[in-house]
Amino acid sequence: MGISDIDADGPIPLCEPNLPGNEKQYVADAIESNWLSGGKYLNRFEKELAQFTGATYAVGISSGTTALQISLLLADVRPGDLVIVPDLTFVATANAVKHTGAEPILMDIDPGTWVMDLNLLKGFLEDSCYISNGCCYLKENNRQIRALVTVHLLGNMCDMRELLQIGADYQLKIIEDAACSLGSFQSGRHSGTFGFTGTLSFNSNKIITTGGGGAILTNDEAVARKARHLITQAKSHPVEYFHDLVGYNFRLVNPLAAIGAAQMELLDEFIRVKKDIAEYYRTNLPDTGIRFQKITDHTTSNCWHPALLIRGSRELVAFLAERKIESRPLWRPVHELPAYQNDIFITENNHSVKVSEAGIMLPCSTSVTPRQLERVCKTIALFLTQ
Ligand SMILES: *Cc1c(COP(=O)(O)O)cnc(C)c1O
Repeated sequence: MGISDIDADGPIPLCEPNLPGNEKQYVADAIESNWLSGGKYLNRFEKELAQFTGATYAVGISSGTTALQISLLLADVRPGDLVIVPDLTFVATANAVKHTGAEPILMDIDPGTWVMDLNLLKGFLEDSCYISNGCCYLKENNRQIRALVTVHLLGNMCDMRELLQIGADYQLKIIEDAACSLGSFQSGRHSGTFGFTGTLSFNSNKIITTGGGGAILTNDEAVARKARHLITQAKSHPVEYFHDLVGYNFRLVNPLAAIGAAQMELLDEFIRVKKDIAEYYRTNLPDTGIRFQKITDHTTSNCWHPALLIRGSRELVAFLAERKIESRPLWRPVHELPAYQNDIFITENNHSVKVSEAGIMLPCSTSVTPRQLERVCKTIALFLTQ
């Protein structure tokens, strides 16, 4: 946790970037080297991401959203296809599906862990889908379900062994949206390394940041090569401007990767602090009237963003704001957003709606001080007694 309280009653931000290390020095070095698109920091950052996660390859990319879009394209998702996505996630997960011309099937979540409900998923696949020629189709309209994106929500994961089995049974490519979960493991294996690909985000609120950026993790050499090809305009000749596909300009640039390389030096410490913050909330908030996210068995969350369920969550957000403490409601269920109202939503008990309505995300900057955390807890306790 942070070293000193500059102002004990000052504003407490939600989740600020923290760049206390070699960020400036590496960016200056990248600029002085005149390597701005590719360069040594990009190579280094990718290598270190692969090392940290245990993925064979990490491909730097412009954002977590484009990492998902490219992953879906590499999974052969085409316009008119269907892709299963959890209903509770940051909207980018579903947007990436739409960007490929496919449509999401929004799957409800488990009320305890807040990640995709695998029993609901299995029931849906058994009852509403069929397999023909090794492909999965929705009975209702005979459209192909090509892939499934699981989201490691706030650092938690679903049971990946079970999900991979479902993927194998129904011929679905499994993509892991690991934007929230750099530093989360299940049975000793890093999030984002189980499926066809995993995607990371280095947006400014994530556990490490490059301002904007992302990565695709994969163990498949051909997938990594194709990803690089697609995000660099699909140029297939070293000199001639010959492009063998409709490519994209989605590279992560060297000066941003330089920030990332410096942030990698701090990642272990950031994870430790995030876990301390989550532990502080769990032990210092009142036991009644509050519910935390249940972490799946055999899973170690990076505790990227502590959140809780409470009656009157929106009133609590306002109550905290009046006391200069920044918090946020949990994401709105995707099926409630205007662009997704015509998409299929699979649910039995509307858990995504209930969790979203009661959900609030708490301050968790890695620079937060113990006194600030104490203030947050006391203010929530005060809210509960009024
Ligand atoms: C942040 C985030 C994204 C998007 O990442 P960007 O880098 O902002 O594009 C996608 N999915 C989830 C779950 C996220 O939290």
